Amino acid sequence: MAAITMKNIVKKYGDGFPAVNDVSIDVQDGEFMILVGPSGCGKSTLLRMIVGLEDITDGDMVIGERRVNDLAPRERNLAMVFQNYALYPHLTVYENIAFPLRLAGASDEEVDQKVRDASKTLELDEHLERKPGNLSGGQRQRVAMGRAIVRDADAFLFDEPLSNLDAKLRGQMRTEIARLQKRLGITTVYVTHDQTEAMTLGDRVAVLKRGVLQQLASPRELYTNP
Ligand code: ADP
Ligand code: ADP
Repeated sequence: MAAITMKNIVKKYGDGFPAVNDVSIDVQDGEFMILVGPSGCGKSTLLRMIVGLEDITDGDMVIGERRVNDLAPRERNLAMVFQNYALYPHLTVYENIAFPLRLAGASDEEVDQKVRDASKTLELDEHLERKPGNLSGGQRQRVAMGRAIVRDADAFLFDEPLSNLDAKLRGQMRTEIARLQKRLGITTVYVTHDQTEAMTLGDRVAVLKRGVLQQLASPRELYTNP
């Protein structure tokens, strides 16, 4: 059973040409799926339909065994990791990671257990009392992922998380994200317009052009048969 099944997904904004046009993609449990294509090809729109931030015009969005077309974002149990990390600058790393648990009304004991487990996995346990402003880019990225982990989200969704970074840092963070994704084994959908990211990060790559799925293959297959 696929973790996320997109079946004949269509998105129309107004009367124009569809932004996403009859796209079908199955993301397997634990898979790292890349959505790649030039600006305007519809990859953000597709990601936003997975997470529930955009209405689906036609088709079925299935997460696990649930059709989620009409479910609000918070009912889908997915974790969007935003480009700017959306961390709270005045809160410590600990409280940033704890934030979704506090919102959900978790006990102090549960919060503590989950934050400490997540920070160990993410190698943040020595930085729990620091504030985001004093962290490196890679550490901030991990805090953002920690926030998703403590919620036991079914999948991570990334929308161009590295596009504002310089080339060197981008390379380092790419390696880090790939390593953590494999360690956590969490289903991931990652949007990028960057060919290098597409060819190095994912298990499979979905290539979009003008809203249409052009190819869906492993990086190796794409490399030998572009
Ligand atoms: P990408 O993420 O690949 O750059 P988008 O999903 O942002 O592409 O956009 C796909 C198409 O849908 C583009 O033609 C864009 O102009 C259009 N589009 C995106 N968002 C909106 C919106 N809120 N209203 C109208 N058109 C939109
Ligand atoms: P870590 O692996 O410890 O999380 P990074 O891979 O993020 O660190 O950072 C590696 C290098 O990039 C370090 O020298 C760090 O100072 C630098 N660096 C980290 N974040 C930024 C940033 N936002 N802008 C510029 N340089 C950064």
